[in-house]
Amino acid sequence: MSRALIAFCLGILLTSCPRVSENSGTPASSRQNNDALILATLYQYYSAEYKALCFQAWNSGENRIEAIRSERPMAKNLAVVVDIDETVLDNSPYQALLIQEGISYDSCWDTWCKLAVARPVPGSLDFLRRASELEFTIFYLSNRKEHLRDVTLQNLQNLGFPQANNQHLILREGKQNSKEERRRRLQEQYEIVLYAGDNLGDFFEDAGNYAVRDSLVIAKTQDFSDLYIVLPNAMYGNWPASLGIEGDKTPYDSLINLMTLPFHKTKP
Ligand SMILES: [Mg+2]
Repeated sequence: MSRALIAFCLGILLTSCPRVSENSGTPASSRQNNDALILATLYQYYSAEYKALCFQAWNSGENRIEAIRSERPMAKNLAVVVDIDETVLDNSPYQALLIQEGISYDSCWDTWCKLAVARPVPGSLDFLRRASELEFTIFYLSNRKEHLRDVTLQNLQNLGFPQANNQHLILREGKQNSKEERRRRLQEQYEIVLYAGDNLGDFFEDAGNYAVRDSLVIAKTQDFSDLYIVLPNAMYGNWPASLGIEGDKTPYDSLINLMTLPFHKTKP
């Protein structure tokens, strides 16, 4: 699907979403939150560097699974587990709509998913086709809700993602955001050789505070590219919440002041 057709679909989407403009009273917190999204969303959609990072991630993954298959040509129960949003499906046009209309993330998410027009994240399709060729079992492990199952499969199947069927799509259970229990159940049946995602929670149990999150990553330095493939996503995820980024309550000043502390300490 072309970018023009996605834009057309976004126009249709708007007719069924609550439209809020500045003149009709968008809350200040919503506007400020969307202001913070602009650069991240433009980067995700337009920058060549974003695409290069995606190719780098998936190329690294492909090298890894080819090495594993070469070492273990007869192994039958090997699997790769990938997240969906901002890992294999690109929702940046929806993020742009949030900015344009000053609406919250939840307000039109279901409608956007039901359009089933998200494009593939660069490199994801080639990686997963190669994984399937090499006889790895693929699981799409997402926090999308069950009522979006059919439209999610439709989007993945329309794009030609391999093994995209009910058996290989694992969605959120109740209000449980953590993927740990679902990973554990998969690990009972398969040897998971690679995880791909855009959020720490796609790999292991996430933590709230940004300093703890940093230490989790540093402790697993060797696992990145060997076991975990990370896709870039500055638009959303657990990282903003870990900094307390929340509309007009975001402590921007204290975050910036902390970063410039070394400079102020060295001033005469
Ligand atoms: Mg994701």
